[in-house]
Amino acid sequence: MALPLLSFDEASAMVARCASRLASQTLGRERVDLALSAGRVLADPILADSHQPPFTRSTRDGFACRAAEASTRALLGLAGSVRAGDPPPPPLNSGAACEIMTGAPVPDGADAVAMIEHVEVADGRVRLLPPRKLVPGENLVLRGAQAHEGDELLPAGTQIKAQQIALAASCGYRFVEVFVRPRVAILTTGDELVPVDVVPGPGQIRNSNAPMLEALVAGAGGDPWILPTAADNAASLDRALEQAVDADLLIISGGVSAGRFDLVEPALARLDAKFHFTGVRIQPGKPLVFGELPVHRRNDLQEVHGTKCCCFFGLPGNPISSAVTFLLFAAPVLSALAGNRSPGPRFALAKLAEDTSHAAKPGLTRFLPAHCTFGSGDGKMARVSQISMQGSGDVVAFARSNCFLVIPDDDANLKKGAIVRILLP
Ligand code: AMP
Ligand code: MG
Repeated sequence: MALPLLSFDEASAMVARCASRLASQTLGRERVDLALSAGRVLADPILADSHQPPFTRSTRDGFACRAAEASTRALLGLAGSVRAGDPPPPPLNSGAACEIMTGAPVPDGADAVAMIEHVEVADGRVRLLPPRKLVPGENLVLRGAQAHEGDELLPAGTQIKAQQIALAASCGYRFVEVFVRPRVAILTTGDELVPVDVVPGPGQIRNSNAPMLEALVAGAGGDPWILPTAADNAASLDRALEQAVDADLLIISGGVSAGRFDLVEPALARLDAKFHFTGVRIQPGKPLVFGELPVHRRNDLQEVHGTKCCCFFGLPGNPISSAVTFLLFAAPVLSALAGNRSPGPRFALAKLAEDTSHAAKPGLTRFLPAHCTFGSGDGKMARVSQISMQGSGDVVAFARSNCFLVIPDDDANLKKGAIVRILLP
């Protein structure tokens, strides 16, 4: 069952291939209230129901006029006033200007708006002050400049965030068609685990992975389904996995290392699992397992959810290992299952704030919890510092992090000022 260890790039490529295969499947869809759609994935494109903007609108408070006339500093006769919400005013005669507020329709005949700060107004006439000039198109947005009626503005497969909600609202979508979220079973394993509301006895610890993975799954577009924790014995694992095969994706934490009570792989093998890999040269997370359970193990739910198989990830149980391996490998598969066209993981560049200090682990690509200061508006590049920690179980240090610093597998000694890659959550 043990397959050769893959490099980080090999494992990523294998996961990406699987994700693109899953992305082509037909997904269930549902209609949701636009206001509750954040995080969901569009099943239908968003179309412009009218030109955007629907009328030529002013982007400033000032005076609608002809740019060429205003630029001669001629005194322009004031012809009415228009504010946001008013119907379009009558066409503007030559030699005239119309007082206008931001968001108001620009009268026909006007081709620019002089800002209120740039004019003088006296005796019902207005004049552009030197040294200002106006060019046609200044301070207005032409009808249809952003989009034309019927245009596809967002394709299906777009994950909805605040900016997409704003657009859909402006096009009149009170509800949106989204894909049904994939059901993701989360199975934590370990004899030492107690639920969060139980005081651990001697040798026990609280199960922190269940709620952490629940948050990660929800963030990646899945519908988390927490299964009862399985004990480290074959019977308990078999019982749990029998239930879990009804999911679209199965995330198991713990029990995949080389220890005597790491029994997850044999339990998956008893279900005729196909293993894609059983280890990756990364740290933390080396014992990561990825595979799929065969179709014949699935019951009728597979019809409802429309999936063809149940992919699984066996994540090493240490919380930081679980989080890193989820973000790197499980999240892209989950995003693809959710219909999202741009599955992660998300990397960025940052400048190293201090020399790194870590034990040499050549041959392993490393992902160390780090804190990145994402600029303070001063134009400086994001700066990242490694967080010192007591191994991959150190949730205290982990909670102070907001990204992972990527150390390449040649274990280059990274010096202060180096441009480094970070993995974003
Ligand atoms: P394992 O991968 O099962 O060998 O576990 C590795 C380490 O992670 C052990 O110290 C476990 O106690 C810890 N661990 C495993 N599962 C969890 C969990 N659900 N929550 C917190 N720690 C865990
Ligand atoms: Mg364990």
